[in-house]
Amino acid sequence: MIFSRATPSRSGRGWDDALERLIFTRAFTPNPASSLLKTTAQLQAHVKALLACNRCPAMHKPVISGAPVLSKVLLVGQAPGVKEPILGRPFAWTAGKTLFRWFSEQCGVDEAAFRRTVYMAAVCRCFPGKNAQGGDRVPAPVEIAECGGWLDSELRILKPELVIPVGKLAIAQFLPVGPLVEMIGKSYRAERAGVAFDLVPLPHPSGASPWHRTEPGRSLLHQALGKIAQNPAWKQRISG
Ligand code: SF4
Repeated sequence: MIFSRATPSRSGRGWDDALERLIFTRAFTPNPASSLLKTTAQLQAHVKALLACNRCPAMHKPVISGAPVLSKVLLVGQAPGVKEPILGRPFAWTAGKTLFRWFSEQCGVDEAAFRRTVYMAAVCRCFPGKNAQGGDRVPAPVEIAECGGWLDSELRILKPELVIPVGKLAIAQFLPVGPLVEMIGKSYRAERAGVAFDLVPLPHPSGASPWHRTEPGRSLLHQALGKIAQNPAWKQRISG
């Protein structure tokens, strides 16, 4: 259309060249607003498909997902417990209260602001049920692999700059897992699904584990939260 309206200049190809340069520039210069809209739509479609997922027959429904927050920070929990399906959001009960207290006290963000500005993923998005001892069942490798596909898609869509895995099962999705004393309090560079990011692991905030309440766990947790608070992606969590 624009080509058909172009008028050749008296001085040869000057106008044509300028017009071609303009069209080329417009075609190949990214438009931040339209790219943001596209990513938002992709993320909304992703969460909609995730909520309808039925890949694992032994997992309890519903699927639990955080909001489709276009964030530079991705939190990866382990799996919902028995309360999350009732309350309909990740980290909705006692472990969540502890987790959000950590972020509130050391990173200056309360629970509502956290949920608004951090994308909350997990190793598995469904409650695995109870084991024979009455604790939560650890998801099977095949379930972790199935749900890992959703995590890979989130990494590709969001391209997060900071990932925060919470608990050993979540950390193991990104790093070879060792003792918590060797992993907590450090920042790593990691890659998954073709996306590279900073990684700051946290211990699981479960009340069942005293690790984060006793030394050296308490000090290492303090160091880890300090690294999150200092990370440039944390300070500018919302994409735009
Ligand atoms: S655990 Fe993940 S992959 Fe399995 S059914 Fe739930 S959402 Fe789907």
